[in-house]
Amino acid sequence: MDRNCQNCDKPAEAPWTLCKTCRREYARLLHRLRVNLHLLQAVARREYRLSEPGAGGRPQGGDAPAPINLHAQDMLDQTEDGLQDMWNETGVESRPRWQTLLRDAPRRLPDLCRASRSGHWLTWLIHTCERIEPLIDRRPRSRRIIGVCPECGREVLAAKGETLRLCKCGIPINVQQLREQSRDNAEAMHLTKTPAGMSQWLRENYGYEVSRKAITDALRRGKLPSSKPVEGGYWEFSIREIVAFAMSKA
Ligand SMILES: [Zn+2]
Ligand SMILES: [Zn+2]
Repeated sequence: MDRNCQNCDKPAEAPWTLCKTCRREYARLLHRLRVNLHLLQAVARREYRLSEPGAGGRPQGGDAPAPINLHAQDMLDQTEDGLQDMWNETGVESRPRWQTLLRDAPRRLPDLCRASRSGHWLTWLIHTCERIEPLIDRRPRSRRIIGVCPECGREVLAAKGETLRLCKCGIPINVQQLREQSRDNAEAMHLTKTPAGMSQWLRENYGYEVSRKAITDALRRGKLPSSKPVEGGYWEFSIREIVAFAMSKA
């Protein structure tokens, strides 16, 4: 019987409720969550030890806890609840701890990908990872535009190393795939801008710092042969060419 993937709507063969690509994604997300939760646990524990040595519990009295670490414990508890509900839909009713659940995940995967609400849980995994990651990774992440959401047309931003993003419209975005698509589109695309406008565009879209003067010089010296002057100081830039130029300058 034909059915559609609950996540991406592509055909999924019975008894799966997710297509092959999304099943693989599900496995990857479970693994990512496992790594995240171990780090989150370390964050939560460090705070307990610092604020209430030996008590083995929540800090009391005047020792105001750093909010981020209590937050980490809450997040850990909430995530465990979610995982238990998720497993529950495959018939596991005993509500094991998250460590046990996620250790068991590879074996449980076929059941999870046949569950009646697998699409819901896939989205939940993405959301959960995205909520945890700022707590375990304090480095500021600079996200850059990687393309446009195929569903709603919003610009999608991603940082280096991120494989999946959730668009504001709720669609999960495969970062690698969208990057490749955008690159293909960019090859055929041109943009009409002044050198100053192009300098700003490169900074905002790709994070490259190329001055207006560097672009003007390159145009004058014929280093951007696919770019054509238009009128009033504007140029028609080949995106592929100008991005390659910016990369070479970076
Ligand atoms: Zn799918
Ligand atoms: Zn969207």
